[in-house]
Amino acid sequence: MAEWLPKAQKPVVIAGPCSAESEAQIMQVAEYFVESEKVQLIRAGVWKPRTRPNSFEGMGVKALPWLAKAQEQFGVKFTIEVAKAEHVQAALDAGIEYLWIGARTTVNPFSVQEIADALQGKDIPVFVKNPINPDLQLWIGAMERLIKAGIHKIAAVHRGFNTYNDPIYRNSPQWEIPIELKTKFPNLDIIVDPSHIGGKRDLLHQISQKALDLGFDGLMIETHPNPDVALSDPKQQIFLDQFNQFLDGLEIKQKHFEDQVTLDQLAQLRKMIDEIDHHLIENLKKRLDIVQQIGEYKADHGVTVFQVERWTEIMRDRTEYAALHNLDAQLVKGIWKEIHQASIQLQTLIANNHLTEKK
Ligand code: PEP
Ligand code: MN
Repeated sequence: MAEWLPKAQKPVVIAGPCSAESEAQIMQVAEYFVESEKVQLIRAGVWKPRTRPNSFEGMGVKALPWLAKAQEQFGVKFTIEVAKAEHVQAALDAGIEYLWIGARTTVNPFSVQEIADALQGKDIPVFVKNPINPDLQLWIGAMERLIKAGIHKIAAVHRGFNTYNDPIYRNSPQWEIPIELKTKFPNLDIIVDPSHIGGKRDLLHQISQKALDLGFDGLMIETHPNPDVALSDPKQQIFLDQFNQFLDGLEIKQKHFEDQVTLDQLAQLRKMIDEIDHHLIENLKKRLDIVQQIGEYKADHGVTVFQVERWTEIMRDRTEYAALHNLDAQLVKGIWKEIHQASIQLQTLIANNHLTEKK
């Protein structure tokens, strides 16, 4: 867990308005969070990247003294979004110690590099939101640019990915992407932003709980004294006075089992899984050996590798057999597509070898 945050607390909680709108709003938010003691950092957007022009683009530098005043008066720390070198400079000059890079900036290596250059040699923590498109390499690349500039206090923020016409989410969560990121970099903290994933208040509990169930390291939740009149993202921000209750409604899961009996039971079950997996592998190998024989037979007799009737028949039979065993048809279909792909690959190789031998 990021030891560079103001308070050691698990999971990390960052909350605050989408945008800093007025000094009064910032002071109200800071006072609430000091009393609540549930958040490590307060967020507030100062420069807002908007999809369309003529929308509220943030208060800009005018808001920075409000944040500085709240930090001073309440002993809280703010984090704000930066998208260019000029923002970085203004933020640091105002005493902001935590920055984040937004999804629309992470997509652009030029902008990320500009921010990294502006931070060169400074010991400032940066949260890196995922790019708006589902591209894990781009997300990793942005963090690498910061690391190359000597920034080592980095956490990732998962805020979902833009998909055209997602019926549920504003930004579809595609959990497999942050899971892959965690698998590649187990020590990197990943904070989930349910507000920008959900886009509406109703979904926040469900997405936050899922993030905790999956073992992610924290939450960033947009919270506003009166979201209905918020200048940006009014539908997804939760009411400030409901924040404590919201957080208390979430179940924080432990990362590991602690008592010996459960640990022993778990070890036994995992041993069974290991054995089953080994059998699956042995059977896969047996299956491929037979596929090889079939491939040679087809090659000898000049018969095509792919036979649509046989493949349709396999899919029908395997999904029906799966249904008989109460297994999800989609799961079985997915697995057999992979198996079939491997068979086709092997048989194509055999057919090609056969041709070269003949020449
Ligand atoms: C925000 O946090 O207010 C924001 C603009 O988020 P994102 O970059 O994830 O869209
Ligand atoms: Mn927002």
